[in-house]
Amino acid sequence: MGESKLVIRNIGLILSGRIEDPVLDGDCLIAIDGRIAAWGREKDLDTEGAATVIDAKGVALSPGLIDSHVHPVVGDYTPRQQQLHWIDSTLHGGVTTMISAGEVHMPGRPKDIIGLKAMAIAAQRWYENFRPSGVKVLAGAPVIEHGMEENDFKELAAAGVGYLGEVGLGSVKDGKTARQMVDWARKYGIQSTIHTGGPSIPGSGLIDADMVLETGTDVVGHINGGHTALPDDQIICLCEKCHAALEIVHNGNERAALLTLNTARELKKLDQVILGTDGPAGSGVQPLGILRMVAMLSSLGNIPAEIAFCLATGNTARRRNLDCGLIEVGRAADFVLLDQAQHAPGKTMLDSIQLGNLPGVGMTVIDGVVRSERSRNTPPAMRAPEIIGRRA
Ligand SMILES: [Zn+2]
Repeated sequence: MGESKLVIRNIGLILSGRIEDPVLDGDCLIAIDGRIAAWGREKDLDTEGAATVIDAKGVALSPGLIDSHVHPVVGDYTPRQQQLHWIDSTLHGGVTTMISAGEVHMPGRPKDIIGLKAMAIAAQRWYENFRPSGVKVLAGAPVIEHGMEENDFKELAAAGVGYLGEVGLGSVKDGKTARQMVDWARKYGIQSTIHTGGPSIPGSGLIDADMVLETGTDVVGHINGGHTALPDDQIICLCEKCHAALEIVHNGNERAALLTLNTARELKKLDQVILGTDGPAGSGVQPLGILRMVAMLSSLGNIPAEIAFCLATGNTARRRNLDCGLIEVGRAADFVLLDQAQHAPGKTMLDSIQLGNLPGVGMTVIDGVVRSERSRNTPPAMRAPEIIGRRA
């Protein structure tokens, strides 16, 4: 009765998003009303009465990718590079959820306290009310400024704001003030991140390891710089001392990304590593940025591709308290279906990724609804899933 059932059959590989257990056994997944209900062998599952049936054609299913660090402004438009439909293009790169690190590219962005609060609340609302191409954009991330008081954070949280923009992009540049505001934010359930490294564009500043440690944000934002990375010893120190998420971005220093990955692995802290793009930015938008990070870290950082996918899915979901990113009963039915790219070397898709090649995206699903089919942006997948049945 109004129940909407999705069956995805003929899955070749189920990637779980769980770093402790990255591959699941099964060839079929069932979602009901946009939530994962079951998976396993098709013969053992109740596939009757499906509203939509997808034949995966033997390709891999992963939780939809999560970009932990974007700078959206409004709708599917970014003034930073005057681009339309950058979020739709990113969906075609397998990303189903994005988290704002501040709507800092809004022309005329207010920096007075009532103005920045008003914009944060408005940004949270306009992305909640309008999902470009179905992508979940978790936005409304105010940049802290001098003069904010505890009550401001209480009000923001009560109004639905869940994230701070990057600490350091506003007037607060000292650890003591930043710490106080991050603590207030946390008290009311607002997550925080920080701009780690050198200035990104004229007007921003340096945040070194001491400032990151003193501020104590929930996420060490772009630990590999955005663009300019900290010296190696400071990155290693952050990996050693922080319990926060260690965020690696596409827009940063790739050598520093590998240093972070290798250090985190040695410290047995791979579960703290999450991925973002930091787009749109000076270097543009990166529709395939998360997939490119997965391939880069897997190939040059020597981690199995199925683990690299966890950095872009389950790790981020856990660190960011999201209800997606993992194949678990009750989680959001947000998926990307992928296959080895045509003519890519490697015995399997995972093997070809570990050789540094991007996979091809064949379909995305958000809240149990197909949002895109064969990607217009990735290299073409060898096989692409097909919708074989749809009941009104
Ligand atoms: Zn930044």
